[in-house]
Amino acid sequence: MDYRIASIKGDGIGPEIVTQAQKVLKAVGEKYGHGFEFMELLMGGASIDVNGVPLTDETVEEAKKCDAVLMGSIGGDTRTSPWYKLEPSKRPEAGLLGIRKALKLFANLRPAYLYPELKEACPLKEEVAARGFDMMMIRELTGGLYFGERYTKEIDGVMTAVDTLSYNEDEIRRIAIKGFDIAMKRRKKLTLIDKANVLDSSRLWRKVTEEVAAAYPEVEYGVMLVDNCAMQLVKDPAQFDVVLTENMFGDILSDEASMITGSIGMLPSASLNETKFGLYEPSGGSAPDIAGKNIANPIATILSAAMMLRYSFDLDKEADAIEEAVKKVLKEGYRTIDIAAPGQDQVKCDEMGDLIAQRI
Ligand code: NAD
Repeated sequence: MDYRIASIKGDGIGPEIVTQAQKVLKAVGEKYGHGFEFMELLMGGASIDVNGVPLTDETVEEAKKCDAVLMGSIGGDTRTSPWYKLEPSKRPEAGLLGIRKALKLFANLRPAYLYPELKEACPLKEEVAARGFDMMMIRELTGGLYFGERYTKEIDGVMTAVDTLSYNEDEIRRIAIKGFDIAMKRRKKLTLIDKANVLDSSRLWRKVTEEVAAAYPEVEYGVMLVDNCAMQLVKDPAQFDVVLTENMFGDILSDEASMITGSIGMLPSASLNETKFGLYEPSGGSAPDIAGKNIANPIATILSAAMMLRYSFDLDKEADAIEEAVKKVLKEGYRTIDIAAPGQDQVKCDEMGDLIAQRI
């Protein structure tokens, strides 16, 4: 089949790492008989330089015409780049928020997987790391505390700040369905993380998620309080498969889950809307400190492309092929600068792309 992919290479290491993911997708296309056409679009600093704004209506419209978006990263050195002399709404990051909103992306997926070959980078106790872990953190992106009504004012002579946390059942149901669908593609276990002993919103999350769970009898469904989850992630991360949670809990827990893998250059992510459409990008930023040197790790972006195949195109076999190829190069001992042990040989960004593409 033929797929049209919006390619937003962005800034810093973005062009280097996205080029490697395109190379790997080309290899997948050749092996499995698919056509991947890339529509190159500008966003972030690259768009400011050409268009004066970080995101144009044209970029949004062109992205909407595609089957998915593959992105590098946007932004520059926040202390030295002229982009950061602009007002906040005109800076590179505003493009990212704008496109997420325009594409109605409400579910953020961040897998946290510990590669046996990279166990040394895991900051957890040796016996915990030895068990490994492989989880998918799903965070609601468009509701909750970050989008509720807020104000700061003097009440009875005392300065008071108020943020409101609100969710309606439809917002919860649509992401719970996504969560269970994803669990069906994995080890069929889903844990809802909440604070139902205190918060009304959490009690609604439990009620609605339980209703959705009834339609997925094959999935083992459980609940856990967020404070306990923060502990369990460092004590026994192997227990988790799909972890579903609201916006702020997800913001914090997904960073914790990333951190315990020990390697930012390895972590892909996806943001999905109600259809199969998604935006796929590495979890890290544009790494201006190493941009243009051909030393960035392209694996997070290559694995983001694998997520695109799995979640937007339902090409599970092809996604498996990419993930297996990544495991193979790591097993064979190839490392980019960020994941190399002291004294270990390092490969360049484009070499890593070639090595993975050759193993498809
Ligand atoms: P960063 O993730 O870009 O870099 C942090 C450190 O990790 C740096 O030392 C960098 O060299 C390293 N690193 C990151 N990705 C790597 C890779 N693939 N291979 C090897 N090393 C890698 O975070 P930062 O320095 O805080 O931010 C830099 C810029 O990126 C800022 O402008 C920020 O706003 C932007 N940013 C963009 C996104 C996005 O596009 N979604 C996300 C986060 C940060």
